[in-house]
Amino acid sequence: MDFYSSRINALIEELSRLPGIGRKSAQRMAFHILAMPEAEVERLAGTMVDAKKNVHYCRECFNLTDEEICPICRNEKRDHKVIMVVENTRDLAAYEKTGRYEGVYHVLHGAISPALGIGPNEIRLKELMTRLAGDVKEVIIATNSSLEGETTAMYISKLIKPTGIPVTRIASGVPVGGDLENIDEITLTRALEGRKEL
Ligand code: ZN
Repeated sequence: MDFYSSRINALIEELSRLPGIGRKSAQRMAFHILAMPEAEVERLAGTMVDAKKNVHYCRECFNLTDEEICPICRNEKRDHKVIMVVENTRDLAAYEKTGRYEGVYHVLHGAISPALGIGPNEIRLKELMTRLAGDVKEVIIATNSSLEGETTAMYISKLIKPTGIPVTRIASGVPVGGDLENIDEITLTRALEGRKEL
């Protein structure tokens, strides 16, 4: 890559750090950016910085939001007594896209993984337990069907059992090791409707 000047190399280098962006795509993006009008490039960079500065976790559910409480938690038409536990914001988005879920969420931001040294304290579990002190009639565990997702589901269900709140797990049909965001909406809806009590 010595034939590019250092600023072009730096741009390619930064872009190739993004997920799913290989060297070739990074190059294509870099040249595209360099060909864009300066005002557009500034708007793009500005939008990134602005989002980074102003987006944080919802105080209730830990979804990403630029307000104190996210639009889902603020929506009075949703059933606030049903909480679906997901691993990350992308999984939440996948369920929202089905348009079939009317409860609220709790985003763990990870899953328990002894292999990676991620324990219950590294994810937003304490915060979930705090929420359960309120009026809750069902907790739906929608962690992924990976080893980490299953471990997390088991751990949470044991934790909640003493409270007497019914805990359900989304049905299989979601392929083992499958990442929720890659699964189509019909399968997700079926998994949700076929959930079983743990
Ligand atoms: Zn929220």
